[in-house]
Amino acid sequence: MKVMRVSNKVVKKLLEKYKEISTLGKIDGVLGWDLNVNLPSKASEERAQQTAYMAKLISEKWLEVEFKSLLEKANQRSHSARATGDEKAIIRNLNWGAKFYHKVPKEIIIEFAETSAKSFIAWQEAKKANNFSIFAPHLKKMVRLNQLVAEHIGYKDNPYDALLDLFEPGLTAKEVGKIFKTIQSTLTKILTKIKTSPKYKQDSDVVDANVVYSADDQRQLCLFVLKKMGYDLEAGRMDISTHPFTTTLGNFDIRITNRYKPNDFRDSLMIGMHETGHALYEQGVSEEYASTPLAGGVSLGIHESQSRFWENQIGRSWEFTKFLTPILHAFYPDQLSGLGAEEIFRLFNMVKPSLIRTEADEITYNLHIALRFELENALINNKIKVDDLPKIWKDKMKKYLGVVPKTDAEGVLQDVHWSHGPMGYFPTYTLGNLYAAQFTNKMKKEVQLNELVEKGELGTILSWLRTNIHQYGSLYWPEELVKKVTGEPLNPKYFLNYIKSKYSKIYGIKL
Ligand code: MG
Repeated sequence: MKVMRVSNKVVKKLLEKYKEISTLGKIDGVLGWDLNVNLPSKASEERAQQTAYMAKLISEKWLEVEFKSLLEKANQRSHSARATGDEKAIIRNLNWGAKFYHKVPKEIIIEFAETSAKSFIAWQEAKKANNFSIFAPHLKKMVRLNQLVAEHIGYKDNPYDALLDLFEPGLTAKEVGKIFKTIQSTLTKILTKIKTSPKYKQDSDVVDANVVYSADDQRQLCLFVLKKMGYDLEAGRMDISTHPFTTTLGNFDIRITNRYKPNDFRDSLMIGMHETGHALYEQGVSEEYASTPLAGGVSLGIHESQSRFWENQIGRSWEFTKFLTPILHAFYPDQLSGLGAEEIFRLFNMVKPSLIRTEADEITYNLHIALRFELENALINNKIKVDDLPKIWKDKMKKYLGVVPKTDAEGVLQDVHWSHGPMGYFPTYTLGNLYAAQFTNKMKKEVQLNELVEKGELGTILSWLRTNIHQYGSLYWPEELVKKVTGEPLNPKYFLNYIKSKYSKIYGIKL
């Protein structure tokens, strides 16, 4: 477990101050968790005020005169040769956090929090009523607030860069554009080849409205797998929410949520593995970093690499399917009777352009992200209007995936993210897929991954992740971490190679 070395008095004082920020953040997290899991609809107005009040308290902590002057002093220290790696990283992370709180006026931060809570409720209504116009005024406000945030933080080329940086330090729209340029055309070509293969035409979906998988069975199966993965349920729990998520409410309170579709056993299992991937990262950070600026995962992209690793690299692998098949039969003896490992593997890995991002296969998933990235970038730069989103969404879906949503609920309203407010989040999903493939490639050189997964022995895999990634928390920034773990910067070729090798076997074609 990584030991923390901090000897400087100023940094020590900063850590004391930061602990209060960390505590407030976790309390705010409880309000957010409750909003998503439990809140009765009539309570939404007051919850918005409560959340805005927390945002105000957190802002005030960052703006305290003493805190600011300590950070200034620490900045001088960070250049000293005697500063430890931990000290330098603490100061760097505080400067990064301060960029938002010191540059964006408190009033805007509070307004953002208030608008976000109301907007979430409006989005739920809009989605239920399948009516974008209910959500549109809120989204317009959120876009405007995001633009203001970007203006205050500052940027070189593109206001969207200021927002991307809040989730993935240093990431720019140009860089994201470059990544999509590399992967999008290859993925589209792969998709076209798969669609013309004979096996693609034989694919049939398991979702049968007459077959029911009880929510309790789904939950128990998830819990069995999550424990195998190493999720500490005495320091976490799994509840239900429409849009599943993971949240850190305390150093020993890392929670996940899930949802249970009555006619599909795959959804909750993959969500459970995904969210547990996030939770394992948080639970694996060195305890010495608890409540400091080094606690927690370093960026959303690296975070998503951990969730995608467990969901896709493990959960959707042939080896895991072989391990899981007898367990699935024990849970669903009637529902899955007659289906062997081969058939079940296909059910988890069918490629099919579809309307909903969260249900997308590994190939089309990133095309959904490309669409969202382009829309956000255009919205922030005033190149498109909120009112035109439903139409632009449909046009792009047709162009990238060849399918067109009939309704807004399965189109522009499907994701919760824009209702929460922050923009610049979506590209980290694709980064996560790419990082995950690159980490897996490295891991395979050091552990017998396939053999272990087939036996259901996941402990060695978690240990590798803990040693190489988790324990460091936010010590290394994404770029440094990827280089440290794999010996090179982010390289999309690992993801493309993984996709080609896996799906050429599944569809019996050359990719
Ligand atoms: Mg995730």
